[in-house]
Amino acid sequence: MPAILFLLSACTGEEKSTASFEAMDTEMILTVYGDGSACEKLKNKVIELDRILDVTDTESEIYRLNDSGSAELSEASADILQKALELCAQLDGAFDITVYPAVTAWGFTTGEYRVPDEDELKSLAERIDHKNVGLSGNTAALSADAQIDLGAVAKGFAADELLGILKDGKAAAAVLNLGGTVALYGKKPDGSRFKVGIADPEDPAGYFGYLERDSGVIATSGGYERFFEKGGKRYIHILDPKTAEPVDNGVLSVTVICDNGSRADALSTALFVMGLDKAEEYYRAHPDFDFIILTDKNELFITKGVYDGFTLAEGYDLSVHTVQ
Ligand code: AMP
Ligand code: MG
Repeated sequence: MPAILFLLSACTGEEKSTASFEAMDTEMILTVYGDGSACEKLKNKVIELDRILDVTDTESEIYRLNDSGSAELSEASADILQKALELCAQLDGAFDITVYPAVTAWGFTTGEYRVPDEDELKSLAERIDHKNVGLSGNTAALSADAQIDLGAVAKGFAADELLGILKDGKAAAAVLNLGGTVALYGKKPDGSRFKVGIADPEDPAGYFGYLERDSGVIATSGGYERFFEKGGKRYIHILDPKTAEPVDNGVLSVTVICDNGSRADALSTALFVMGLDKAEEYYRAHPDFDFIILTDKNELFITKGVYDGFTLAEGYDLSVHTVQ
């Protein structure tokens, strides 16, 4: 189920084509105006990326790297790994692709959920450090028992690749809904802006508000996407790299709007880990993006760049704050 729904008003005059399919563990819906052949090309690119990045697929390059500790990667995978490592360095402490052993220990990869004890958590946390991933040319090597998971940025990378293909093509406009990460391209034939709904964590098929935008990538991270409950407590799939434990800081969802898809995707995960105060601090120091953060106190925090383009959906009683 896509975490972000998109709404399009009726368009006239331009040929519209769509493709819906399952990839990257989610449902994707691509809509392209003005180029009937583009959808198929974009879909094939997503499937190709999924094949190299899917950590659970025994045929994928990332699986091979995790399994043997070193691997000769394709140009495309090496490039993505390099960029993912740069994001880890920029978001040190909040975003770390070496969380994979912890993601597995909690059962998020298999659905066989469990709560590791304190000793296990301590040793899992010690294994999380992106500096244990080496990349020299296309050769990747993992040290100190590290294993990587690109799940937090795969859709963002896909968004960047697809926007690149569109820029080289002849489509007039496109809305690419990559299950929680939406990329916008071009101008809609009727001149209106795109409307992107932001999923309601309580009922992810609905949305608590929508954003009107011309362009950019909109990525949302939320605990509702994958979680389990035990002893009355909810454990979500976003982990704090410092403790190897699911984040539990009052944040329900983080949406990031940024021209760069991989940065939007990494940031949505990282700001979730940071929590509201640190997320605001990070934004003030690096204002190349916007965010919308929903907390469990029914409060919504929206940065000034997207505040005017945001509309609360009917029936939602949230107190909305601007972040300057
Ligand atoms: P997202 O939905 O983009 O926030 O990505 C969440 C996914 O990324 C999880 O299902 C894990 O596979 C992985 N992950 C969880 N916590 C982190 C983290 N702190 N840094 C990087 N990846 C993470
Ligand atoms: Mg993410």
